[in-house]
Amino acid sequence: MRTVSMKSMLIEALAGGYAVGQYNINGVQWVQAILRAAEEEQAPVILAASDRLVDYLGGYALIAAIVDLSIQALSITVPVSLHLDHGISVERCKKAIDSGFSSVMIDGSHHSIEQNITMTREVVEYARAYGVSVEAEVGTVGGMEDGLIGGIQYADPLECDRLVKETGIDALAAALGSVHGPYQGEPVLGFAEMKHIAELTCIPLVLHGGSGIPQHQIQQAIALGHAKINVNTECIQAWALAVRQVLNQDTHIYDPSKILTPGTEAIQAVVQSKMQEFGTSGQANANYSKV
Ligand SMILES: [Zn+2]
Repeated sequence: MRTVSMKSMLIEALAGGYAVGQYNINGVQWVQAILRAAEEEQAPVILAASDRLVDYLGGYALIAAIVDLSIQALSITVPVSLHLDHGISVERCKKAIDSGFSSVMIDGSHHSIEQNITMTREVVEYARAYGVSVEAEVGTVGGMEDGLIGGIQYADPLECDRLVKETGIDALAAALGSVHGPYQGEPVLGFAEMKHIAELTCIPLVLHGGSGIPQHQIQQAIALGHAKINVNTECIQAWALAVRQVLNQDTHIYDPSKILTPGTEAIQAVVQSKMQEFGTSGQANANYSKV
């Protein structure tokens, strides 16, 4: 099985009252850890490469090849989507699509709504021909976004409505108080605004900065239309902790497989726990069609 668009995954999730997790790729072992977790949980899964890490990871084509070949090598049977997270420009989104990504996010949220709509529409038109799904963003997720540290700026519901109706995107990231990276204290998500935006737009919403949000707020976000939740920070923290423990316990260790394998196992454990929390476990048999 090759990677599929996330469109039908998210429509199924929205209808079924659960969310599909997006887990970021930070190296080759990450692909295996995330795919193994998905197969173990029988959960649909979205693997993502953040556009700012694409060059570090070896480029779009190498990322797509690694994911496709890993699906075959590990005999993965669950639906897998390969998504470009925070695509920086129209050109880069097109390059990701040309290289085999099955989903892209075009992040025009730092531009005017007019420019955001223009950029997003161009990506949607290009992606349609390949059956690739498109996510776009309104507002500003706090913390690190596109390599910039910024404050939270709530998405304007009317801008969300315009972006959805004038572009035909498949999923909307409406920034409502979430943060990339660790939270300072308990997160405060804008649930009233979330309900308003979900009712206006009627498309699957995406929660960026899904790490560290308490379970009751995650459940409320899912109930109010979030069908995709992005998790990265909790995976990288668990990976770093496991690797650090190995290095601290044995200062003479130098075998990379011995140093890194506990990190890979830690990633898989976090991903499996998120799949259970988001209700994705056991949903792989939903009736997915390649859209
Ligand atoms: Zn994000």
